[in-house]
Amino acid sequence: MRDVTLSCSFCGKSNNDVGVMFTERTTCICDECVAFCVEVIEERKAACPMIRRLDAWLAAQADEKSRRDKVAEAEFNRGYVIACCNLVNLFDQPVYAFDLLAALGVTKQQVRAMDLAGYDEAALRKIEQGSGGDSPYRTVRSRRL
Ligand SMILES: [Zn+2]
Repeated sequence: MRDVTLSCSFCGKSNNDVGVMFTERTTCICDECVAFCVEVIEERKAACPMIRRLDAWLAAQADEKSRRDKVAEAEFNRGYVIACCNLVNLFDQPVYAFDLLAALGVTKQQVRAMDLAGYDEAALRKIEQGSGGDSPYRTVRSRRL
């Protein structure tokens, strides 16, 4: 293998003097120059009120999406827990229900937070006793990996 020395097209440093050298055909840029460019871009963004407002709006949108995703996941999991209770009542399959919840990564704490005890306390207790006693549902999953 032949040693190749590359030089940053912007500052001239060799790849032996920098951490990472990015190359594209005949052009190279070192990690220090990339960091400098990012710094300049961030300074310009910070100086522009429109970009600051846009960044704030994007951050708010990301927070809202994250909040909505969590609500949707909780609703999905709640539906699955109810379906698992029905699985226990219709087919007496608490271990299978336990495994389904484990595959979804649903924990007993999440199930308790769903406040379904009034819905079907007996089925929930059977599922919990289906495997692992007091351990969270997800331990079954990790045991299998
Ligand atoms: Zn450079």
